[in-house]
Amino acid sequence: EQKQMQDEKESMFLVSKFASEWFAGQLKTDEGRAIGYSYFKERGFTDETINYFQLGYSPEQWSAFTDAAIKAGYKVDFLEKTGLTIVKDDKQFDRFKGRVMFPIRSMSGRVLGLGGRILDSSKKAAKYLNSPQSEIYDKSKVLYGIYEAKQAMAKEDLCYLVEGYTDVIQLYQAGIQNVVSSSGTALTTEQIRLISRLTKNITVLYDGDAAGLRAAIRGIDLILEAGMNVRVCTFPEGEDPDSFAKSHTESEIRTFLKDNAVDFIRFKSGLLKDEAAGDPIKKAGMIREIVQSISKIPDEISREIYVQESAAILDIGEDVLFSTLAQMRNAEI
Ligand code: ATP
Ligand code: MN
Ligand code: MN
Ligand code: MN
Repeated sequence: EQKQMQDEKESMFLVSKFASEWFAGQLKTDEGRAIGYSYFKERGFTDETINYFQLGYSPEQWSAFTDAAIKAGYKVDFLEKTGLTIVKDDKQFDRFKGRVMFPIRSMSGRVLGLGGRILDSSKKAAKYLNSPQSEIYDKSKVLYGIYEAKQAMAKEDLCYLVEGYTDVIQLYQAGIQNVVSSSGTALTTEQIRLISRLTKNITVLYDGDAAGLRAAIRGIDLILEAGMNVRVCTFPEGEDPDSFAKSHTESEIRTFLKDNAVDFIRFKSGLLKDEAAGDPIKKAGMIREIVQSISKIPDEISREIYVQESAAILDIGEDVLFSTLAQMRNAEI
């Protein structure tokens, strides 16, 4: 039984590899060149980048991919199990019909699943579609770009965490290679554990919109709980790392990151400061928010350092912060 399971997974890996190569090859057909390739070009991706991330195109036909895969000897069973093919009333349909394709690889470079972006944003369908959960693809355990970024992450001892596929690709192309994305799902402890094998330092680069801000706030406590260091860099309203990187040089991006990345205390107090100005109740709430985050840090010395920093920034006595912290930690235990 164990063996059968292993064989099944192996077949799913093989069909996923075939798919990513086939989609990449489609960029060279007439349709793929006119639609997929020119889309990537418009986004500013070079040929080198397109090849490196093995980007592709899934034709605007009901079953072009499925037909090709069957012809190449792959079984419908595995095409369906990986979600590449949808079987309905004995008919087979391509899941990613008419989308540009982003293969999602494991740390060791195997294709686990794919993401597909719609070309015409005015269509009703979801902008991005991913492989469904399967024996080989668990979205809570993958990080887009980890295979491409792992060496730079270890070397720079830092991981930039972004929201989307194109943020990873655009930053990478600009020369910032230590970057991965949780691809639309809320950050998970498993994803953080993957990063922690390479570095203990994460800088969150989420979109300059309300959703990005919410995601950053959620991510912070999880990263702190894992005993890692977290900084946050917010982008100008309406910008994301992709759009910013596209319109700036590498040195401008690096300068921006250096000047704007702040530790989580400055980030949280910056968010709440204006709101709390002159309002003692709001200020108390903000202080509790910050101490809440500090209480997640496993290491006592780090907690103490952050309490000292908060006291200075918030202009409040350390003793009050320490006693609030003690209460929160006791409440958790
Ligand atoms: P683009 O620049 O191509 O428009 P983006 O990466 O800026 O895409 P966002 O809207 O900022 O897209 O969303 C961030 C990430 O969330 C996406 O990269 C994608 O992984 C995921 N996502 C966005 N919209 C959807 C959707 N409708 N369904 C599933 N996942 C989505
Ligand atoms: Mn966004
Ligand atoms: Mn975005
Ligand atoms: Mn974008």
